[in-house]
Amino acid sequence: MSTLLVFCRDCGKQVASSQTKNGLCLDCQVRRSVADLRDEHARLWRKRERYRTQNANVEQIGRQISRVEDRMAMRIRELVPNEREAIEQLRRELEAARGQRYTIKGV
Ligand SMILES: [Zn+2]
Repeated sequence: MSTLLVFCRDCGKQVASSQTKNGLCLDCQVRRSVADLRDEHARLWRKRERYRTQNANVEQIGRQISRVEDRMAMRIRELVPNEREAIEQLRRELEAARGQRYTIKGV
């Protein structure tokens, strides 16, 4: 069986058509599926930073953040059957979420 290569319609990466869904590569599928949670994560992360500078109790926000991370992990596992790959995807999404606060800062 020959592997048909297609371009992901989002990031433009060339991938095997068997790994795409609706024309999206796995990376983009993951990114889209956790987009709302990533925004929520970024929001909580900024909130915690703000509280921290006010010496407020950040314990509760910390728990909220880990709950969001758990939900992100669950969604990623649904899309990525391979455990190691799923962890890698989660790591990447969390890095993106944590980096997001810098780009949104001041808005
Ligand atoms: Zn893609």
